[in-house]
Amino acid sequence: MVSLFKKTAARYSLSSSKYSDLYYKLCVLQVYTGLKRAGTLDSYKKKFVDFQKMVSFLNKLEIHYSMLDMGVNIKVFFSKNKTDLSDLSALHNAVFNLNASRDEYGNLLGYPKCCVLRFISKPPCRLLAFPTCHFENKAKRNIYELSFKINRLASFPLIQHTPCKITCHKTIELADKILKLYKTYDLALAKRIILELKKPVLVFGENNYIRLNGEYRKDTIFYSSLEHVNPLFIEDGSICENDIKTIEIAGLMKEGNRLSFGTNAFKILKNDKLILTNRFSSQQFQLINFQ
Ligand SMILES: [Zn+2]
Repeated sequence: MVSLFKKTAARYSLSSSKYSDLYYKLCVLQVYTGLKRAGTLDSYKKKFVDFQKMVSFLNKLEIHYSMLDMGVNIKVFFSKNKTDLSDLSALHNAVFNLNASRDEYGNLLGYPKCCVLRFISKPPCRLLAFPTCHFENKAKRNIYELSFKINRLASFPLIQHTPCKITCHKTIELADKILKLYKTYDLALAKRIILELKKPVLVFGENNYIRLNGEYRKDTIFYSSLEHVNPLFIEDGSICENDIKTIEIAGLMKEGNRLSFGTNAFKILKNDKLILTNRFSSQQFQLINFQ
């Protein structure tokens, strides 16, 4: 089944962005193999889409689909089952206006029940947020050691939902299944995805984060480069004070190669030369060391 998908996938390009093309194919793979009943392709930028190829690809795999015009983006709903597809697209609008059964929506997308219930009772601070506001116990010096399987801040996250807690077993179980599927699909790709998922991430507020190409050892991150991701800024062009501060910090971090965490602050260093001391009290942030 996976090999047939692979053969078909090789013949179609779903986006002119290589990253999106691969990511969307992996989302479709999960539904095609029956791991999930239905799926969505989000933030599908119209200008990068070749609709004809996308439609032919889904038709070839006998996957039903529908599309929703979101302005700059298109949202694609898909499922092998026609009823599931029409339920999902019908629920979508109502769900986002908070007047429909959100548990059924989460259920169709294969999210664990515990996470769906938690999301409904206590939504994350902002829609695009990593669930740092869901962290129940304040970690020492804002440093969290988390399983790489729940990392939603990497370029190829295994999970697409907000976990109910950072140790949610059902989420880890789901991530394990997805990872196993990816390994069958393309072992070298799965290994690359794991390396990406294990990169330490510095999260600022709820919407900015910095992925570091490096590793965390004994209160210090040694890094060679970094990537600043600001989802809200990218999505709608809005920028707030917190974004500006993070852009400044990311700029200074680019000049350095080491972050050292003390009791009240972290320091940005270039070898042993100090570039900036950032007090914990000055800005809300978390370092997440995924392993
Ligand atoms: Zn859960």
